[in-house]
Amino acid sequence: MSEEPFVGPEEIRSARRTIAGTTRLTPVDRSAALENSAGSPVYLKLEHMQVTGSFKLRGAMNAVANLSESEKARGVVGVSTGNHGRGLAFAARAARVPCIICMSSLVPQAKIDGIRAQGAEVRILGKSQDEAQQEVDRLVRDEGMVMIPPFDHRDIIAGQGTLGLELLEQVPDAEIVLVPVSGGGLISGVAAAIKAQRPQTRIVGVSMERGAAMYQCQKADKPIPVEELPTLADSLGGGIGLDNQLTFAMTRELVDEILLVSETEIAAAIRHIYWQERQIVEGSGAVGVAAILAGKVQAAGPVVAVLSGGNIDMNQHYRIASGEDVDVSKEAA
Ligand SMILES: *Cc1c(COP(=O)(O)O)cnc(C)c1O
Repeated sequence: MSEEPFVGPEEIRSARRTIAGTTRLTPVDRSAALENSAGSPVYLKLEHMQVTGSFKLRGAMNAVANLSESEKARGVVGVSTGNHGRGLAFAARAARVPCIICMSSLVPQAKIDGIRAQGAEVRILGKSQDEAQQEVDRLVRDEGMVMIPPFDHRDIIAGQGTLGLELLEQVPDAEIVLVPVSGGGLISGVAAAIKAQRPQTRIVGVSMERGAAMYQCQKADKPIPVEELPTLADSLGGGIGLDNQLTFAMTRELVDEILLVSETEIAAAIRHIYWQERQIVEGSGAVGVAAILAGKVQAAGPVVAVLSGGNIDMNQHYRIASGEDVDVSKEAA
């Protein structure tokens, strides 16, 4: 494994200048309802209100902006069924850069439409993510397009890190910051931004019990394959890449701890965020609140939970909000 040097505060500040004006500075709200569970003030970073519905736009905007003119002319490609696809498609359109998102024929129509609506060409190939990846590899090899990965890339991490800079201005005495973790681009950037200014702030990752790739890799002390399982936190699925260059090492070095939450705890959090906080958040964006409600977070100072995204199937949200015990492992597509 040959690792790159960590993304630092300079790169993150530069990313902030680059994406200012095309991304939203999302608000922070204090939650009176969560204060009892954490034993201290709780703030919610409302990043589900970001353009495209998640923080992924920050990294994508920064990565597209940093391409050379010739790369921009050739265009960008990605494999993503979800928020990275939306963010990349939006960023490419804003920069007038051609964009192709490849996915398998198993992807639900609503997700395909979500990405098409951002203006990207969607190419449907085969019945697995692997076959979609083969088409991406071909576009890179034969057409010179540039692959923008979802997390293990300097410009992506620096873009996600801009959320950390904002958050520390909004809650300067944050004691704990709860960050949803999948491949670790968000938490690596946020930790790099915050630890450089306030090393005593604890950066705590949260993942679902079902298929917590970064958690299991950190436990194994190296990137390992982790089985992907159906979960309400569907944006947190997938591995971190066996040839991980940045996010595994940055997480090991800069993140204090990773907590796990159950499907029942995630559902309870989606419900709480809807009825008490009056926000609509997807499962992946609710894991920090899930950890607080489950009593897994105790602090002497302010706690900030990042609500990282809002792109949830509204039918599923309705069922959860209505109190139904939705078990996605029993209704996998
Ligand atoms: C991608 C995503 C995450 C996880 O981000 P990583 O950088 O892969 O760790 C968390 N929440 C939402 C809503 C996401 O789309």
